[in-house]
Amino acid sequence: MFILNPNKRESVAHLWLNGDTVCKLYSTSKMRKKKLKLSETTQGKKVCHMCQINNKKLKVPFVFDKEYEDDKNNYVSKFLTEG
Ligand SMILES: [Zn+2]
Repeated sequence: MFILNPNKRESVAHLWLNGDTVCKLYSTSKMRKKKLKLSETTQGKKVCHMCQINNKKLKVPFVFDKEYEDDKNNYVSKFLTEG
């Protein structure tokens, strides 16, 4: 599951798990919670990089859509191998 602001084009989708974003921004920052909606897909948005990195450590069995897979392949693997 993702949580995102469908009305803000340049925003990212966060991974949603157990009542918080995987990056913890939801509980630790002033995200505009009222504008965020849960979604089965990223709706074409990029996925929050901290969410991706944390998720790689947590190994949560998320089901990702194509945008996520593309973004992950482009970014996370590169980021993690480069340290
Ligand atoms: Zn996030």
